[in-house]
Amino acid sequence: MNIAVFSTKPYDKSYLDAFNKNYGHQLTYFESSLKKKSTKLTKGYDAVCIFVNDQIDEATLADLAENEVKLIALRCAGFNNVDLKAAKKHNIKVVRVPSYSPEAVAEHALALIMTLNRKTHKAYNRVRESNFSLNNLTGFNIFGKEVGVIGTGQIGAAFCRIMLGLGCRVSAFDIHESEELKSLGVQYKTLDMLYAQSDIISLHCPLNSKTSHLINKESLEKFKPGAMLINTSRGGLVDTTAIIEALKSHHLGYLGIDVYEQEENLFFEDLSERILQDERILRLLSFPNVLITSHQAFLTREALDQIADTVLSNISAFEANKPLVNEIS
Ligand code: NAD
Repeated sequence: MNIAVFSTKPYDKSYLDAFNKNYGHQLTYFESSLKKKSTKLTKGYDAVCIFVNDQIDEATLADLAENEVKLIALRCAGFNNVDLKAAKKHNIKVVRVPSYSPEAVAEHALALIMTLNRKTHKAYNRVRESNFSLNNLTGFNIFGKEVGVIGTGQIGAAFCRIMLGLGCRVSAFDIHESEELKSLGVQYKTLDMLYAQSDIISLHCPLNSKTSHLINKESLEKFKPGAMLINTSRGGLVDTTAIIEALKSHHLGYLGIDVYEQEENLFFEDLSERILQDERILRLLSFPNVLITSHQAFLTREALDQIADTVLSNISAFEANKPLVNEIS
């Protein structure tokens, strides 16, 4: 099939090209994202391949339909950026990569926790400048702490297993409880109990109308003072303004995020020579107890292998009129 690949980075191209030797599709790579403004690029393509910050809203979908695009193949699990109702209306199928190495994201959540706690990023810079002082580097033992996990699907479950392995008490909230996790020792609680009792809270649920701004002023007030919040899921789960207030008042002790509400204007790009206009990210960057990475939790060799293989096999299944096992409807 003739596929326009949007938001392409060098690693996307190298992994997709390598796996495409087994599939034989025609891939054209565009660095730009796919949104209403860039739909003219999709003329002549049967399918588009997109990532987390492409904006597939009603207007974009209308143009795709006019250009006779029949398939949207996501290179990710989350699909909050696609208007599924409008896709259905225009008879455009949407497929995703539901699971690719959930450990990649779960391990990144752990990396954020460890770095924030033991301040290895600060120690690294200090020692390089011959500053061997330990002042202000005190952390806490992860062992024995209570970790609250919101969303225990593929990634949340992998994260639960990691934290159990570290000797934490792991509690969770999900609209579907996992018997397997319960048998491993995970205790499901109400959200209010999880907020009040957790030393570390990690978000692993999808972004949708029910979870948008799940972490807001009211929920933050229920957090244990000094708790750590980790978000590797989607920026919109968290009300950034409320988070900034909670950090200023010292009620929130640490924040580690791989995702940010307005990340589409920032993440994945080198903006080091630009003047950033986003006041809230600048405020977040000013806190010593905040660690931000730019949506890299998925970025392992194993995950990129699985993403490329699943994307191309989804497209081949569509082309061959086979059942679309990874269709989002
Ligand atoms: P999944 O579908 O396997 O699991 C999601 C879980 O959330 C499910 O168990 C579901 O029941 C639960 N859930 C749904 N609504 C909920 C609610 N209102 N409250 C609590 N739980 C709820 O998905 P996954 O593969 O584990 O991925 C989770 C999220 O991680 C994705 O939606 C995506 O946004 C994000 N993600 C981020 C990265 C990254 O690089 N940072 C990479 C992959 C996925």
